[in-house]
Amino acid sequence: MDADVVIAGAGPTGLMLACELRLAGADVLVVERLEERTGESRAGGMHSRTLEVLDQRGILDRFLKIGDPQPVGHFSGLYLEFDETESRYPYPLMILQSDIERLLEEWAVELGVRIQWSAEVSGVRQDESGVTVELGTRAVRARYLVGCDGGRSAVRKLASVDFPGTPATMTALIGDVELPELREDYVWVRRSATGDYSAIAFEPGWYRVITSEYDRVAGRDEPVTFEQLRESLIRLAGTDFGMRAPRWISRFSDAARQAACYRTGRVLLAGDAAHIHFPAGGQGLNMGVQDAVNLGWKLGAVVTGRAPESLLDTYHSERHPVGERVLHNTRAQSALARPGAQTDALRDVFGSLMEIDEVNRRLRGMLTALTVRYEVGSDHPLAGRRVPDEDLTTDAGDVSVHQLLHAARPLLLDLRAAAAASGGDEVAAVAGGWAGRVDLVRATSAEDFWMVPELDEVPAPAVLLVRPDGHVAWAAAADEPLDVPALRTALATWFGPAPRD
Ligand SMILES: Cc1cc2nc3c(=O)[nH]c(=O)nc-3n(C[C@H](O)[C@H](O)[C@H](O)COP(=O)(O)OP(=O)(O)OC[C@H]3O[C@@H](n4cnc5c(N)ncnc54)[C@H](O)[C@@H]3O)c2cc1C
Repeated sequence: MDADVVIAGAGPTGLMLACELRLAGADVLVVERLEERTGESRAGGMHSRTLEVLDQRGILDRFLKIGDPQPVGHFSGLYLEFDETESRYPYPLMILQSDIERLLEEWAVELGVRIQWSAEVSGVRQDESGVTVELGTRAVRARYLVGCDGGRSAVRKLASVDFPGTPATMTALIGDVELPELREDYVWVRRSATGDYSAIAFEPGWYRVITSEYDRVAGRDEPVTFEQLRESLIRLAGTDFGMRAPRWISRFSDAARQAACYRTGRVLLAGDAAHIHFPAGGQGLNMGVQDAVNLGWKLGAVVTGRAPESLLDTYHSERHPVGERVLHNTRAQSALARPGAQTDALRDVFGSLMEIDEVNRRLRGMLTALTVRYEVGSDHPLAGRRVPDEDLTTDAGDVSVHQLLHAARPLLLDLRAAAAASGGDEVAAVAGGWAGRVDLVRATSAEDFWMVPELDEVPAPAVLLVRPDGHVAWAAAADEPLDVPALRTALATWFGPAPRD
C-alpha cells in the first residue's frame, strides 16, 4: 500500500480531510492534477460553523489574521444580520479561497501530509483489500480513495456514481478586475431587465465583478473571456466602468446536483465532487470543509482499526441530507434572483419578512450550518448538534470546549461538580474501557444554561460525549439519573467496542 487513504484533489475539502486523517493517525497521500497552486481567488468567505471547526483544531487565528469579519451577509442578495448568531464568531469572514487553500496546505504539511502535484486520477479499480488509483501511466494503491476533485469529479464518474439534479437556467460571469471609472467601493446587486450585477472592492484597487444573465445558458465547455465579462457588464449596467487588467475570470451557474451515494465500497466523495449548486450565500466551500470534518475521524478510526467499517455509512446518512438542504436553499435563492416585475415584488415581500427576528434567525441558521443536527440515537436536546463552545474550569485551569477538541479525539466531559469532588465514579469506570481512545475530562461550566442555535437556552448537561467533529454523540441531563448502559452503548457505537469487550 502506498497510503491508508489517497485523496484526489488538493482543494479546501481535500486538504482539510487530509489534516483530519493525519490527526486520526492515518497515512495520507493527496494527488492533485495541477502542477502548482493557481492562486485563483474563487470563494470569498467562511461562515460561523467553519470558523468554529478551525477553532476546534486550534488553527483559526491564522485565518482571522488575514480575514475581514463582515457586519452582514446575504440571502439571494438581500441583507441578512449575523451579529446575534449564537457562536463565538458571529459573522461571515471575508477571506479568499486562495488564502484558505494556502493556510490549509501549510497546516497539512506540518502534519505530515504528502501531496503529489501533476498527478491526475485517470482510473479507479477497487477490490476486497483496497483501491488502485491510476495516475496516467502510473498507479498508487490505498485502502480507501476519497474524491475531493471538484464538481466535474473524475472519481465520481469512474466509480459510476449518479449525479442527479437540476440543470443551469442562467449564466454568471465573475472576474477580479480594475474598475477605474467606478466611484463606489461597493455596488450591491443592482438589478436590470435581464439580470443583475455587483462589484465589490475585495482588495485596494481590485474589484470582484459578478454579472448574472437569465436569457441564456452557456455551454459547459465554452471558453470564458474577459471580453464576455465586459460585454455582459455593459448589457446590464450600460457601462464597463473602464474595466481592465483581469486577474481571474470564471463562470458559474445555478445547476444543482448531488451524488446519489457518498460512498461506494472503498471510494467516497466529498465537497464539490459530492454536490454542486448556485454559490449564493457562500456555502459550497464551507460544506466541503464540514464534509471533511465529518468523514476524517471516521475514516481515520476505520483504517487504524479502532472502529468497524460500518461507521463509514454514517458519513452518507449524515452528510447527504445536509447537502440536500443546501441545494434546496440555493434553488430558492436562485428563484429569488430572477429578473422581472414579479420577482421584484417577491424580493420586496421576502425582504420585509427578513426584518422579523425569527425569520432572520432561521435563514442565518441555514447559511452558517450551526443548526445542522445528526441522528445519533439520543433524544437529549444537544444530541447530534454541534457542541456549544462553553467556558469550562478544570483542575488544570480554564479551558473552552473547542480547546479540548484540538487533538481531534473523542471527548467525554463530566460536568457534575459532585463527581469531580468525590473522585472515582461510574463515568470514570465506564470510560476506563475506552482508555487511550476517549479523553475523559472533569470540568465545571460557568453557565447553568447553554445557548444553542434554534433552541435558545438548554440547561447545562451533566455528562457529554463529543465526537472529534464537535457533534454531541450522547448527553445526560443534570436532573435525571445517569443512564450508564446508554453511555456504554454510545461509546461503542461511535468509537468501537471497548477493547476488553
Ligand atoms: C463565484 C464563486 C463564489 C463562491 N463563493 C463561495 C463562498 O463565498 N463561500 C463558500 O463556501 N463557497 C463558495 N464557492 C464555492 C467554492 O468555491 C467551492 O465549493 C469549493 O472550491 C469546493 O472545494 P473542493 O475542494 O470540494 O473542490 P475544488 O476547490 O474544486 O478542488 C478540487 C481540486 O481537485 C483537483 N482535481 C480535479 N480533477 C482531478 C483529478 N482527476 N485528479 C486529481 N486532482 C483533480 C482540482 O485541480 C482542484 O485542485 C464559490 C464558488 C464560486 C464559483
